[in-house]
Amino acid sequence: MFGRLIATVSQRVPSVLKMASPRMKPQVVFVLGGPGAGKGTQCSRIVENYSYTHLSAGDLLREERAREGSEYGQLISDHIKDGKIVPVEITINLLRKAMEETMKQDEKSFCFLIDGFPRNEDNLQGWVRVMDGKADIKFVLFFDCGNEVCIDRCLERGKSSGRTDDNRESLEKRIQTYLQSTRPIIEVYEKEGKVRTVDASRSVDEVFADVKAILDKEG
Ligand code: UDP
Ligand code: MG
Repeated sequence: MFGRLIATVSQRVPSVLKMASPRMKPQVVFVLGGPGAGKGTQCSRIVENYSYTHLSAGDLLREERAREGSEYGQLISDHIKDGKIVPVEITINLLRKAMEETMKQDEKSFCFLIDGFPRNEDNLQGWVRVMDGKADIKFVLFFDCGNEVCIDRCLERGKSSGRTDDNRESLEKRIQTYLQSTRPIIEVYEKEGKVRTVDASRSVDEVFADVKAILDKEG
Protein backbone atom coordinates (compact mmCIF):
# COMPACT_ATOMS: atom_id res chain seq x y z
CA MET A 1 0.00 0.00 0.00
CA PHE A 2 2.85 2.34 0.95
CA GLY A 3 4.60 1.44 -2.30
CA ARG A 4 1.54 2.33 -4.28
CA LEU A 5 1.26 5.69 -2.55
CA ILE A 6 4.89 6.52 -3.40
CA ALA A 7 4.32 5.46 -6.98
CA THR A 8 1.29 7.73 -7.21
CA VAL A 9 3.11 10.70 -5.73
CA SER A 10 6.15 10.31 -7.96
CA GLN A 11 3.89 10.11 -10.98
CA ARG A 12 2.26 13.32 -9.94
CA VAL A 13 5.42 15.29 -9.29
CA PRO A 14 6.41 15.82 -12.92
CA SER A 15 2.96 17.11 -13.84
CA VAL A 16 3.04 19.54 -10.91
CA LEU A 17 6.41 20.80 -12.12
CA LYS A 18 5.03 21.27 -15.59
CA MET A 19 2.19 23.31 -14.19
CA ALA A 20 4.63 25.54 -12.38
CA SER A 21 6.41 26.31 -15.63
CA PRO A 22 3.98 25.83 -18.51
CA ARG A 23 5.53 25.67 -21.96
CA MET A 24 3.39 27.72 -24.25
CA LYS A 25 2.68 26.53 -27.75
CA PRO A 26 3.99 28.99 -30.33
CA GLN A 27 1.23 31.28 -31.57
CA VAL A 28 1.85 32.17 -35.18
CA VAL A 29 0.66 34.88 -37.54
CA PHE A 30 1.68 34.23 -41.14
CA VAL A 31 2.40 37.50 -42.92
CA LEU A 32 1.89 37.30 -46.68
CA GLY A 33 1.72 39.62 -49.65
CA GLY A 34 3.63 40.35 -52.85
CA PRO A 35 7.27 41.44 -52.97
CA GLY A 36 7.41 45.02 -51.71
CA ALA A 37 3.92 44.89 -50.19
CA GLY A 38 5.44 46.11 -46.93
CA LYS A 39 5.53 42.91 -44.90
CA GLY A 40 8.91 43.61 -43.30
CA THR A 41 8.17 47.29 -42.62
CA GLN A 42 4.85 46.54 -40.97
CA CYS A 43 6.30 43.63 -38.98
CA SER A 44 8.91 46.01 -37.50
CA ARG A 45 6.10 48.35 -36.49
CA ILE A 46 4.18 45.49 -34.90
CA VAL A 47 7.24 44.39 -32.90
CA GLU A 48 7.60 47.95 -31.52
CA ASN A 49 4.02 47.89 -30.25
CA TYR A 50 3.14 44.27 -29.43
CA SER A 51 4.93 41.28 -27.95
CA TYR A 52 5.67 39.49 -31.16
CA THR A 53 8.95 38.15 -32.49
CA HIS A 54 9.46 38.83 -36.20
CA LEU A 55 10.90 35.98 -38.25
CA SER A 56 11.38 36.76 -41.93
CA ALA A 57 11.83 33.56 -43.94
CA GLY A 58 13.68 35.57 -46.60
CA ASP A 59 16.06 37.08 -44.02
CA LEU A 60 16.74 33.66 -42.49
CA LEU A 61 17.53 32.30 -45.95
CA ARG A 62 19.84 35.24 -46.70
CA GLU A 63 21.62 34.62 -43.38
CA GLU A 64 22.00 30.95 -44.21
CA ARG A 65 23.29 31.87 -47.68
CA ALA A 66 25.99 34.00 -46.02
CA ARG A 67 26.87 31.49 -43.30
CA GLU A 68 30.33 30.08 -43.72
CA GLY A 69 30.22 26.34 -44.31
CA SER A 70 26.57 26.29 -45.32
CA GLU A 71 25.93 23.52 -47.82
CA TYR A 72 22.96 25.44 -49.19
CA GLY A 73 24.57 28.80 -49.96
CA GLN A 74 24.64 28.41 -53.73
CA LEU A 75 21.20 26.84 -53.98
CA ILE A 76 19.64 29.63 -51.91
CA SER A 77 21.48 32.26 -53.89
CA ASP A 78 20.25 30.88 -57.24
CA HIS A 79 16.66 30.53 -56.05
CA ILE A 80 16.49 34.06 -54.64
CA LYS A 81 17.89 35.64 -57.78
CA ASP A 82 15.40 33.71 -59.92
CA GLY A 83 12.48 34.48 -57.61
CA LYS A 84 12.00 30.76 -57.05
CA ILE A 85 11.02 29.19 -53.79
CA VAL A 86 13.69 27.29 -51.88
CA PRO A 87 12.84 23.66 -50.96
CA VAL A 88 10.92 23.72 -47.71
CA GLU A 89 13.25 21.36 -45.83
CA ILE A 90 15.76 24.20 -45.67
CA THR A 91 13.32 26.97 -44.77
CA ILE A 92 11.31 25.03 -42.20
CA ASN A 93 14.46 24.04 -40.32
CA LEU A 94 15.60 27.66 -40.14
CA LEU A 95 12.16 28.74 -38.91
CA ARG A 96 11.88 25.92 -36.37
CA LYS A 97 15.34 26.63 -34.98
CA ALA A 98 14.63 30.36 -34.74
CA MET A 99 11.37 29.73 -32.88
CA GLU A 100 13.02 27.25 -30.51
CA GLU A 101 15.91 29.58 -29.76
CA THR A 102 13.58 32.51 -29.11
CA MET A 103 11.47 30.49 -26.70
CA LYS A 104 14.52 29.02 -24.99
CA GLN A 105 15.85 32.49 -24.28
CA ASP A 106 12.54 33.78 -23.00
CA GLU A 107 9.62 31.46 -22.49
CA LYS A 108 7.23 34.39 -22.64
CA SER A 109 8.22 35.01 -26.28
CA PHE A 110 5.89 32.54 -27.91
CA CYS A 111 4.09 34.83 -30.37
CA PHE A 112 5.64 34.93 -33.83
CA LEU A 113 5.14 36.87 -37.02
CA ILE A 114 6.32 34.54 -39.76
CA ASP A 115 6.92 36.85 -42.68
CA GLY A 116 7.03 35.59 -46.27
CA PHE A 117 6.04 31.99 -45.54
CA PRO A 118 4.28 29.73 -46.60
CA ARG A 119 4.72 30.78 -50.21
CA ASN A 120 3.65 27.64 -52.07
CA GLU A 121 2.16 24.19 -51.66
CA ASP A 122 5.55 22.68 -50.81
CA ASN A 123 6.00 25.25 -48.02
CA LEU A 124 2.55 24.55 -46.66
CA GLN A 125 3.07 20.78 -46.67
CA GLY A 126 6.46 21.20 -45.00
CA TRP A 127 4.92 23.30 -42.27
CA VAL A 128 2.19 20.72 -41.67
CA ARG A 129 4.73 17.88 -41.62
CA VAL A 130 7.03 19.52 -39.10
CA MET A 131 4.83 21.86 -37.08
CA ASP A 132 1.32 20.42 -37.10
CA GLY A 133 0.08 20.27 -33.52
CA LYS A 134 3.26 22.01 -32.31
CA ALA A 135 2.16 25.56 -33.12
CA ASP A 136 -1.17 27.34 -33.53
CA ILE A 137 -1.82 29.50 -36.57
CA LYS A 138 -3.81 32.43 -35.25
CA PHE A 139 -4.48 34.03 -38.62
CA VAL A 140 -2.89 35.19 -41.85
CA LEU A 141 -2.14 38.88 -42.21
CA PHE A 142 -2.39 39.62 -45.90
CA PHE A 143 -0.89 42.80 -47.31
CA ASP A 144 -2.81 43.31 -50.50
CA CYS A 145 -1.04 45.50 -53.02
CA GLY A 146 -1.14 45.87 -56.81
CA ASN A 147 1.79 44.51 -58.80
CA GLU A 148 2.78 47.90 -60.21
CA VAL A 149 3.08 49.45 -56.76
CA CYS A 150 5.04 46.40 -55.56
CA ILE A 151 7.49 46.62 -58.47
CA ASP A 152 8.01 50.38 -58.01
CA ARG A 153 8.67 49.98 -54.30
CA CYS A 154 11.19 47.17 -54.83
CA LEU A 155 13.01 49.11 -57.55
CA GLU A 156 13.21 52.07 -55.18
CA ARG A 157 14.42 49.79 -52.39
CA GLY A 158 16.93 48.27 -54.84
CA LYS A 159 18.82 51.55 -54.99
CA SER A 160 20.10 50.91 -51.47
CA SER A 161 19.07 47.39 -50.37
CA GLY A 162 21.96 45.57 -52.03
CA ARG A 163 19.53 42.71 -52.63
CA THR A 164 20.26 40.54 -55.65
CA ASP A 165 16.54 40.30 -56.43
CA ASP A 166 15.44 43.97 -56.30
CA ASN A 167 15.95 44.47 -60.04
CA ARG A 168 13.42 44.40 -62.85
CA GLU A 169 14.38 41.00 -64.20
CA SER A 170 14.16 39.22 -60.82
CA LEU A 171 11.05 41.18 -59.91
CA GLU A 172 9.12 39.97 -62.95
CA LYS A 173 9.89 36.42 -61.82
CA ARG A 174 9.04 37.12 -58.18
CA ILE A 175 5.67 38.55 -59.17
CA GLN A 176 4.97 35.48 -61.33
CA THR A 177 5.88 33.18 -58.44
CA TYR A 178 3.68 35.22 -56.13
CA LEU A 179 0.68 35.07 -58.45
CA GLN A 180 1.08 31.41 -59.41
CA SER A 181 2.21 29.90 -56.13
CA THR A 182 1.50 32.18 -53.17
CA ARG A 183 -1.97 33.51 -54.01
CA PRO A 184 -3.43 29.97 -54.01
CA ILE A 185 -2.05 29.48 -50.49
CA ILE A 186 -3.76 32.67 -49.34
CA GLU A 187 -6.96 31.29 -50.93
CA VAL A 188 -6.63 28.10 -48.89
CA TYR A 189 -6.56 30.11 -45.66
CA GLU A 190 -9.29 32.42 -46.96
CA LYS A 191 -11.62 29.41 -47.24
CA GLU A 192 -10.85 28.62 -43.60
CA GLY A 193 -11.80 32.17 -42.62
CA LYS A 194 -8.25 32.84 -41.42
CA VAL A 195 -7.22 35.76 -43.62
CA ARG A 196 -7.18 39.37 -42.42
CA THR A 197 -6.64 41.60 -45.43
CA VAL A 198 -5.15 45.07 -45.36
CA ASP A 199 -4.98 47.46 -48.32
CA ALA A 200 -1.20 47.81 -48.44
CA SER A 201 -0.98 50.31 -51.30
CA ARG A 202 -1.26 53.27 -48.88
CA SER A 203 1.31 54.99 -46.66
CA VAL A 204 3.08 53.08 -43.87
CA ASP A 205 1.08 54.93 -41.18
CA GLU A 206 -2.26 54.36 -42.85
CA VAL A 207 -1.56 50.67 -43.33
CA PHE A 208 -0.33 50.33 -39.75
CA ALA A 209 -3.54 51.89 -38.41
CA ASP A 210 -5.46 49.00 -40.00
CA VAL A 211 -2.92 46.46 -38.77
CA LYS A 212 -3.29 47.81 -35.25
CA ALA A 213 -7.06 47.49 -35.40
CA ILE A 214 -6.71 43.84 -36.44
CA LEU A 215 -4.17 43.01 -33.72
CA ASP A 216 -6.14 44.79 -31.02
CA LYS A 217 -9.13 42.71 -31.96
CA GLU A 218 -7.34 39.38 -32.39
CA GLY A 219 -4.94 39.70 -29.47
N1 UDP B 1 12.23 32.70 -50.17
C1 UDP B 1 11.95 31.34 -50.22
N2 UDP B 1 11.16 30.80 -49.28
C2 UDP B 1 10.60 31.52 -48.27
C3 UDP B 1 10.86 32.91 -48.22
C4 UDP B 1 11.69 33.47 -49.19
O1 UDP B 1 12.43 30.65 -51.11
O2 UDP B 1 9.90 30.96 -47.44
C5 UDP B 1 13.12 33.28 -51.20
C6 UDP B 1 12.40 33.51 -52.52
O3 UDP B 1 13.33 33.31 -53.55
C7 UDP B 1 11.99 34.96 -52.42
C8 UDP B 1 13.20 35.56 -51.72
O4 UDP B 1 13.58 34.55 -50.78
O5 UDP B 1 11.75 35.54 -53.68
C9 UDP B 1 12.98 36.89 -51.02
O6 UDP B 1 11.99 36.73 -50.05
P1 UDP B 1 11.58 37.96 -49.09
O7 UDP B 1 10.43 37.47 -48.26
O8 UDP B 1 12.77 38.45 -48.40
O9 UDP B 1 11.10 39.06 -50.13
P2 UDP B 1 9.94 40.11 -49.94
O10 UDP B 1 8.68 39.39 -50.31
O11 UDP B 1 9.96 40.54 -48.51
O12 UDP B 1 10.27 41.23 -50.87
MG1 MG C 1 10.57 41.13 -46.76
